[in-house]
Amino acid sequence: MQNIPFVDLKAQYNSIKVEIDSAISSVLNETAFIGGKYVKNFEEQFASLYGVKHCISCGNGTDSLYIIMKMLGIGVGDEVITVANSWISSSETITQTGARPVFVDIEPDYYTIDPELILSKITNKTKAIMPVHLHGQIANIERIKEICDSNKLFLIEDCAQSHFSAYNNNRAGTYGIAASFSFYPGKNLGAYGDAGCMITNDSELATKLKMYANHGSLKKHQHQIEGINSRLDGLQAAILSTKLPHILNWNEKRIEVAKKYSQHLADVGDLILPKVRPNSKHTFHVYVIRTKRRNELMQHLNNNGVQTAIHYPVALPNLPAYSYLNYKKEDNPIASQFQEEMLSLPMFPELSLQQMKYVVDTIKSFFEN
Ligand SMILES: *Cc1c(COP(=O)(O)O)cnc(C)c1O
Repeated sequence: MQNIPFVDLKAQYNSIKVEIDSAISSVLNETAFIGGKYVKNFEEQFASLYGVKHCISCGNGTDSLYIIMKMLGIGVGDEVITVANSWISSSETITQTGARPVFVDIEPDYYTIDPELILSKITNKTKAIMPVHLHGQIANIERIKEICDSNKLFLIEDCAQSHFSAYNNNRAGTYGIAASFSFYPGKNLGAYGDAGCMITNDSELATKLKMYANHGSLKKHQHQIEGINSRLDGLQAAILSTKLPHILNWNEKRIEVAKKYSQHLADVGDLILPKVRPNSKHTFHVYVIRTKRRNELMQHLNNNGVQTAIHYPVALPNLPAYSYLNYKKEDNPIASQFQEEMLSLPMFPELSLQQMKYVVDTIKSFFEN
């Protein structure tokens, strides 16, 4: 039996160990722990590689969503529309601002927010739409942007799972007023702890975001407003700067792994394989299959040493945390059905052909019996 992890952060560290160790030791030697040149360098490098004017770093990819909404003036009495199938950051940050999350179901083919279902959820309280480019797949962003423009709503993109994903060669995160990224260790670009950032082309907003993330001040003791403490630290910045030059290549490797999975799993059992939105670049943060026998298959893989995950086992509106909003499963039928069917297979750039074959063979053996 082999053991195939869901992600292998150690394999990636080993492949860049010399550079990483040297970056870490520079930060230690310079005691550049908070702020300073490593943070500034990473922000500049990320903005430049992404092709945007401003990158503002912060503590994690949840704070980044919250900070963007706060600095757009979203708060009590407002509503923000987001997607039913996502990580809880999508909705808990809306609540944190004082606003109310409004959930919209997903497109059955691409698992991202269904733009046509957004329209009926817009009220005079709606201030923003916050789609998530889930699994590495960009949402139907041109249609969502049209809806935002014609209803004068802010478009805030959650790119935590979609670093450098694109539609028509336009990168995820460049359609809205601002976008949020997470550098949680397992993300396509991951730090060695918590980290996140925001990007925007709006210079005035960029200044506010930067201020809010650092106690409402741009200069020490000059607090223009009250803010929070949500900073990227020097060590994480140096680690991210070291990893950044590899990200496009790592994404390509993920895409190759996904292609091979899709070749080998075509017509196996009742599996439904991920579809890539036409004209888009899916960066496969995760490779998600669907089957009516999800729990049994997951158990079988686990028994045979293959680690899997579920993104996500309970759609947001179905969580106990949102029982007060009184959503029923029928309100989001697709997300509610798919939460029972989705399964994420091992996915990381270093996953070898031989490991992938083992996963595939283990899946085939399940459906053959
Ligand atoms: C990971 C993730 C976040 C939050 O990121 P953290 O850095 O863990 O706070 C937000 N949204 C989505 C869709 C995510 O996958």
